[in-house]
Amino acid sequence: MVDVEKLTKVLKLEAQDGYQNRKVMRGLETFITNWVTLSLKNNPTPTESRLIEMVADRLTDYGMLLPTARVQAVQAVLEASAFVLKGDRELGPGDGVKPSPNSSQPSAVSRQPTVNSATQNSEFKPNPPASLPEINPTTQNSKLKTQHSIQSSPIDLSAPIISVKGVGEAYARLLEFIEVRTIGDALYYFPFRHEDFSSFHKITELLWGRVESVLAQVVDKTVTRTRNGKEIVEIMLSDETGQMRAIFFNSKMVYSLKPGAQVVMSGRVERYQNNSICFKAPQFELADHELLHTGRLVPVYHLAGPLKQQALRRLIKSVVDRYAESLPEHLPADILQRNSLDGLAYSVKNLHFPPDIATKERVRRRLAFDEFFLIQLGVLSKRHEWQDERPSIPFRPDPGLLDGWYKSLPFELTDDQRGSVYSILSDISHEKPMRRLVQGDVGSGKTVVAATALLAVMAQGYQGVMMAPTQILAEQHFKGLSRIFAKFAESESAQVRQLVPRLALLSGSVKKKDKEATYAKILAGEVDIVIGTTAIIQEGVEFNKLGLVITDEQHRFGVVQRSTLRDKANITNPHVLTMTATPIPRSLSLTIYGDLDISVIKTMPPGRKPIKTKMVHPDERDKAYDFIRKQIAKGYQAFVICPLVEESEKIEAKAAIDEHARLQADIFPDLKLALLHGRMKPSEKDQIMLAFRDKQHDILVATSVIEVGIDIPNATIILIEGADRFGLAQLHQFRGRVGRGDAQSYCLLLPGDELSEAGQQRLQIIEQSNDGFYLAEQDLKMRGPGEFFGTRQSGVPDLRVAGLGDTDLLELARTEASQLFARDPDLLGYPLIAKKVSQLWSTEGDLS
Ligand code: ADP
Ligand code: MG
Repeated sequence: MVDVEKLTKVLKLEAQDGYQNRKVMRGLETFITNWVTLSLKNNPTPTESRLIEMVADRLTDYGMLLPTARVQAVQAVLEASAFVLKGDRELGPGDGVKPSPNSSQPSAVSRQPTVNSATQNSEFKPNPPASLPEINPTTQNSKLKTQHSIQSSPIDLSAPIISVKGVGEAYARLLEFIEVRTIGDALYYFPFRHEDFSSFHKITELLWGRVESVLAQVVDKTVTRTRNGKEIVEIMLSDETGQMRAIFFNSKMVYSLKPGAQVVMSGRVERYQNNSICFKAPQFELADHELLHTGRLVPVYHLAGPLKQQALRRLIKSVVDRYAESLPEHLPADILQRNSLDGLAYSVKNLHFPPDIATKERVRRRLAFDEFFLIQLGVLSKRHEWQDERPSIPFRPDPGLLDGWYKSLPFELTDDQRGSVYSILSDISHEKPMRRLVQGDVGSGKTVVAATALLAVMAQGYQGVMMAPTQILAEQHFKGLSRIFAKFAESESAQVRQLVPRLALLSGSVKKKDKEATYAKILAGEVDIVIGTTAIIQEGVEFNKLGLVITDEQHRFGVVQRSTLRDKANITNPHVLTMTATPIPRSLSLTIYGDLDISVIKTMPPGRKPIKTKMVHPDERDKAYDFIRKQIAKGYQAFVICPLVEESEKIEAKAAIDEHARLQADIFPDLKLALLHGRMKPSEKDQIMLAFRDKQHDILVATSVIEVGIDIPNATIILIEGADRFGLAQLHQFRGRVGRGDAQSYCLLLPGDELSEAGQQRLQIIEQSNDGFYLAEQDLKMRGPGEFFGTRQSGVPDLRVAGLGDTDLLELARTEASQLFARDPDLLGYPLIAKKVSQLWSTEGDLS
């Protein structure tokens, strides 16, 4: 039995309360979702089913609806419920509730003129305007809010998102998933692309294969079911030139498409039974209001959690409409003019909802300039600050000791390694604290460079720290450094033999008792080098004499962690070395790491077997699987990387789960497969990686979350699905998961179904080169805005709009920033800029 009475009761309460969405705990939408779920399980009659559909369609994003729309939705559902409760007639087919739009049957709700044209296709009229919240005397709050939002004087961008009209607590909680917490967050939550639905044609002018929009009237709607119970909805559309079909696979979605409705539909024009055309599951909306989801350049936003694209788009539209205009311009007029940049308000508005592509490109340029400009100002003021920073201890290791060290290594340093070592030794010989970044491709030998720096510090009685982003990487470093330093014990030089450092590992897996013992030793100076995860910076860890801090894969750390660590040295200021395996072209690294000195390790240690990379045609998938099988038969292991899903991590995880199940069941039933995706807890991920390293699995199926820097020498083959959708830099990172042992390793690239020309070009480039820097430069040339770091693998400052391709802009921004800084280093005359810079750098900018 479907509980229509309860639904009615709750909705009536809501109506009495002026549609404020505060009568139900956690929002009406929570109640609705539960009610729908439960009702569907309770064997609804066909009549009830249609009511359920209607409720799901109209009320699931209740909190997002404007007041008038709330009234309409609630009243429509109440009226429908009344019919169901009376049970006096069967609901008409297809149109959800009542069969004939012109029926003059009396109804429970009084028929007042409609308040809003949005109801023109709905028979259920809203209550009289007297019940709208704005006019209801009991709703003081919302009245104030409305007045406030109409003001166009400076807006408070940090006002919580819930203060936006229509956003209730429930929806605000959903927005947490994408970290949109304030009005400013929403304004700056830019789409990652636009769907181009701006080409409108008459039905007979539509060309097969193109993405088009039509304005048409619904003339017929039929719902049929396939043999296996799936719904097929055919909507017949007509305009003055002809008719066409739109086919949907879910009648719930197309509730509002009733005969008579004027709609806009957008999508790819496909063939229908050979001789005519149709849309399959197109986007659509009623044509009685400003188009948002169709018929224009439609923004597509990253989603997470249960967020839905259309509701989010609607929210952002309302925020943009209401608040963008009043965004204050922070750039001085002369900078805008010199660089032909549009105003801020205009740019933000049009990056979301551009009228055409040219405008979008132009405003993107303005906002990209902003990012570079603010980063650059931050970099400049950081440098400025360091000039008066507390001094560091100068470390000047004995040349004899260094000699002994180099001799104890099982290999000769490459020229680039030697260059980095010299720069570091020179840096730390001064009182001025070192701030150096070592960039080197995976396997280029950064560890030994770090170890040399640690040795120099330790030899003078100071302590060093090496931090890695995950437990497994920390353990790897611990083993690696232990191995390197163990050679000391066998050295011919007595001076070196004395120096075998005392290493300690601090990470999640270390037992509490052992940890406390380690803390005591660190404080007493009985440990020379501490290696670990962020556990190192937890309270309780105090150093005796901290001289050097090394962070590996530093872009994984938040700012707080890094500066906390630096503060551990309390009296003096430790030297700081950061290491990264992300190759960043020089032009960009100058900007985002402009406050650091940079060393680059370009050449690989000799004797490395280059990984063989090959693009595999989708038809040859089975061959690729056979090849994997052969490698496994030889005792090796394999990675399978799942395609990138840009919209959301949740969908991506789901796809990975399915792929893992498919591979296990259909392709490799006899092998052991493991799964790794972004929705797992860090400890779970660690466990899986460790198990894989210990050869408990043959194949690891993973999304793009797979660990950078993880060392599994026994893995010799990596298959990358949907390879054309990844950036070159990221493909190269994936490839670096193999080729870490002595055996020949392979990387197989499987493109997706719709291989674009750019995608194909990327795959050819990566087939031909193993050089991370070359690939980064190529990426820079080929890829558009913001794509270099990939969507998840965050680069240091958050470049949301700018990309590596914007080298010209970057130069302009650098020049302008330097000039402004020279004039006014404390930005006293530019309070808006000063605020933005400090915001940017307090959340993500500390690169030291
Ligand atoms: P990464 O830069 O990725 O941290 P590692 O420091 O882990 O690279 O080095 C990768 C491998 O190369 C290690 O096994 C290391 O011992 C080896 N290696 C480092 N430098 C040299 C060298 N100059 N000659 C030969 N092998 C080297
Ligand atoms: Mg490393």
